Amino acid sequence: MSGIAYLNGQWMALEEAKVSVEDRGFQFADGVYEAIRTYGGRPFAVDRHLARLSRSLDGIELAWPVASEELAGLIEEAARRSPFSESFIYLQITRGVAPRRKEYPPGGAATLVVTVRKLEMPPAEICERGASIITVEDLRWGRCDLKTTQLLPNLLAANRAYRAGAFEAAFIGPGGDVRECCSANLFVVLGGEIRTPPRGPHILPGITRELVLELAPAVGLRAGEYPLSRAELGQAEEVFLTGTSLGILPVTRVDGLPVGKGRPGPIALQLAGQFEEQFVRRKDPQKS
Ligand code: PLP
Repeated sequence: MSGIAYLNGQWMALEEAKVSVEDRGFQFADGVYEAIRTYGGRPFAVDRHLARLSRSLDGIELAWPVASEELAGLIEEAARRSPFSESFIYLQITRGVAPRRKEYPPGGAATLVVTVRKLEMPPAEICERGASIITVEDLRWGRCDLKTTQLLPNLLAANRAYRAGAFEAAFIGPGGDVRECCSANLFVVLGGEIRTPPRGPHILPGITRELVLELAPAVGLRAGEYPLSRAELGQAEEVFLTGTSLGILPVTRVDGLPVGKGRPGPIALQLAGQFEEQFVRRKDPQKS
């Protein structure tokens, strides 16, 4: 079984879930999404994901399709119904089915989809040896802090990375600032300090990023948000990515050149271990 889906009030096999061609998600990418993983079968950091969803909905002027408490209940139900030991729970809300016009449909009913699939983590070899990434020009829109389904520039960049034999692509702004990857936030270690580009319109405020920034000082590591130049990325002692379906993933090559000694760095490994300790093995990770 490839998974299960919830579509506008009903649970079904993933293959059976169908949305109209007139859905504004299909016509215009007029929608937002969230991606949640389970740890020990329980959905992880649900409150944080719902808070980000709320910002995304506000940002595209779309009302909640159901109350946030009801959505939290659906996420719990998704995990309960899941046939997999660990699941990837994907939530998408679009502005719904309407004749294809630019203006929002008056009183239109949103489409709410939840899908549940087996959680896929990066291949073990990449986790052990570290990932390689390339840098690409950032061609995305000006509100990357909203998690919208408008992802074509991310797909183009990700496919450039795959063709180059790399795992991810890091977006570089017009001023040479490093932002984030197609589906991950980016961190470096410079002078022993953990750094990540600051929150703003050009990066998605990742939940894993947030947790790493909170965890680092608690385990005696210095961490902060600073603008990051392409030159600094090249000088970093360590580079690592964070994301829901990556955890903390060391990067060992950028544009073909080794990062540090070309092996996963000690700080990324320490953080990954502490992250696992704190959130993965905890009895009630949902409260994180
Ligand atoms: N940045 C982008 C563009 C993403 O799409 C994602 C996740 O899909 C992230 C960062 C990481 O966010 P999170 O840690 O919440 O998964």
